[in-house]
Amino acid sequence: MTTAAFAALSGPTARAVAAVRKVHCKPPTYKPEAPVSGHIACPRCGSRVNFTVAADGYTSGRCVAAACIRWSRQ
Ligand SMILES: [Zn+2]
Repeated sequence: MTTAAFAALSGPTARAVAAVRKVHCKPPTYKPEAPVSGHIACPRCGSRVNFTVAADGYTSGRCVAAACIRWSRQ
């Protein structure tokens, strides 16, 4: 009954968030030692996603392509 939510969680935005966290939010603290900014390949369109990771471990990012993925504070 939460199929739509599950699909959203496994979509390209979630994959981008996971990719950023995998590199910058490692256990045991799950947050970077200092705020991070960088970019990864967009999992949806193959363009570029610019992201930031705050010192508290929250990530934000957006694809450079119009109308593609973006997220904040995840
Ligand atoms: Zn994109």
